[in-house]
Amino acid sequence: MGESEQQYVKEAFDTNWIAPLGPFVNRFENTIGEYIGDGAQVAALSSGTAAIHLALKLLGVSHGDEVICQSFTFSASANPILYLGATPVFVDSENLTWNISPELLEKAIVDRTALGKKPKAIIAVHLYGMPYMVDEITKISKKYEIPVIEDSAEALGSSYKNKKCGNFGDIGILSFNGNKIITTSGGGALITNDINVKKKAVFFATQSRDDAPHYQHSEVGFNYRMSNVLAGIGCGQMEVLDNRVSARRNNFDFYRNNLGHLQELKFLEEPNGFYSNRWLSCILTPSFEIREKIRLGLLEEDIESRPLWKPLHLQPIFKNSPNFTNGTSEELFERGLCLPSGSNLNSEDLDRIVYTLKKAL
Ligand SMILES: *Cc1c(COP(=O)(O)O)cnc(C)c1O
Repeated sequence: MGESEQQYVKEAFDTNWIAPLGPFVNRFENTIGEYIGDGAQVAALSSGTAAIHLALKLLGVSHGDEVICQSFTFSASANPILYLGATPVFVDSENLTWNISPELLEKAIVDRTALGKKPKAIIAVHLYGMPYMVDEITKISKKYEIPVIEDSAEALGSSYKNKKCGNFGDIGILSFNGNKIITTSGGGALITNDINVKKKAVFFATQSRDDAPHYQHSEVGFNYRMSNVLAGIGCGQMEVLDNRVSARRNNFDFYRNNLGHLQELKFLEEPNGFYSNRWLSCILTPSFEIREKIRLGLLEEDIESRPLWKPLHLQPIFKNSPNFTNGTSEELFERGLCLPSGSNLNSEDLDRIVYTLKKAL
């Protein structure tokens, strides 16, 4: 936490705005909108997962539809497809950013369309804060007229060609879960350029209440709005977002400067025009065995590290979904490791991690 969060929470209590609406909700939305820019309209919600659920609904996804989703991601990117009774179609990654491969994406669209199942939407993810290949993915989306949901849950503060992530897709989403770059303990947001889409998102998120003096409902509603208390925390967090991004980028630079010369370890570099918030610092090792040697060596010294995301096409829950794979995400899962990446790591911590990792290797 920064310096203002507790003061804003106190202000919410003092003014008795303890509800899923209030001045901090509006202020948080405006602050995020200004930060992301380009006319971003923001709806603050209870989670990133809720934002993806509403995004799919707003794009008209319903029972029996197919939705393309990046396979190399957290399960929350795809779970809302199942909430709607739709089927995910998983697409593997390219090597440059570890995100959805434009080539495979196009193949998936062509193949599924030939079967009479033209996908209704594409969920692309800026994983670990590294932007996906925005121009290429947007071009394919336009060519086949399939909207993109931009999962920016891990990428607040990242940018592509000097524009902030979050507003490249037809609808973008953010997460403020406890583990993200800034947090409201739990929370999320939906981003759009269309004020009417924002209004509709807020309508769905507040139980789809029709305009009437009594409680009148003609559509299914959800309880997905953000609490004003938590939005107070969010307003404080927005003040320190840029500091958090530099801290995370410094972690990454430290690891690369001190480990990058080792032949066994590879780091994901930023291609030209890509700027990552380096939410997590990841390394790629030559084999599963070496990855495990490092992970267990760190664990022995009480240092937690984690394998990269397990691709969704390998998850038991999604085993019956169609997939288009090229081996990239499976390799990353086997050989990759997320190093400690918190924005509160000090130089002593970082020295100890690097020392222990080298020893394990
Ligand atoms: C965290 C995360 C989500 C879900 O956000 P919640 O706020 O935890 O519901 C979605 N996608 C990705 C890639 C995430 O990392």
